[in-house]
Amino acid sequence: MQYANRPFILKPEDSPGGVGVWCALPPAIVTGPLNARNRRVLGIHVHTRRINDEKKTIDSTFPAIVLPHPDPLGMSVDIIHITPPAAYGWLDAQERGTPLDSVKCPKCNAHHLDLGHFSQNPHQMHLCGSCGSMFRPKGKGKLVSNPLSLLQPTSGFIDATERIELRSDAFYKVEVWPSTPAIIWDLDRPQFVGIHVHAYKNRTERVIDETYGSVLLDGVELDRKSLIMSLLHDYKEPKAANMFQANPKDQIF
Ligand SMILES: [Zn+2]
Ligand SMILES: [Zn+2]
Ligand SMILES: [Zn+2]
Repeated sequence: MQYANRPFILKPEDSPGGVGVWCALPPAIVTGPLNARNRRVLGIHVHTRRINDEKKTIDSTFPAIVLPHPDPLGMSVDIIHITPPAAYGWLDAQERGTPLDSVKCPKCNAHHLDLGHFSQNPHQMHLCGSCGSMFRPKGKGKLVSNPLSLLQPTSGFIDATERIELRSDAFYKVEVWPSTPAIIWDLDRPQFVGIHVHAYKNRTERVIDETYGSVLLDGVELDRKSLIMSLLHDYKEPKAANMFQANPKDQIF
């Protein structure tokens, strides 16, 4: 199943300086004018570096990416499609603690991706999204299938400790995300767990771009878990809380 025309093919061996891949979410909170990035539906965010600690060679969000993946016996190379529904389902499972497995359709050999209700409820009979056949994976009990579970789990999590207190009226715009675990991460760097904040002095000048352990915004203490759950429940729109009114005239669509 193709998700994007000519999707970007990620070959980690071309980026010995490190690769990072995330499920791209819109900000959980935006103060000030919304732009396309704030409203964009999910994509796949990719960082690559040719040389460790040097400038990133890729720092972009793609509609979907393709990852050649050698089978465990090294006999053949399989293809894993990292698409927004797969990445979102994977992230949702990480946050809720749902165990994931990965099975293939016995008829068309497609990796099976459970979506919606099926992504949160282990089940025995699966409906293939590629060929439409129903199948019961041999020798397996109830499970939730997501091909991204074939990837090595990423590690190196460190809780961010810095604190920031800010008032949105001191900035042109503030954007806030909960940090999310990387889907692929082979760098020797820590993955900071916390709340990621961008603050802009004007339309183009970003003066804060940092992950914090605790954030007080306009007198409200933010909580990473609540921020991520708000995005996982309603991930297509940024959650502009009532206290943060965006000006509809500034929206570009
Ligand atoms: Zn299924
Ligand atoms: Zn099938
Ligand atoms: Zn940032």
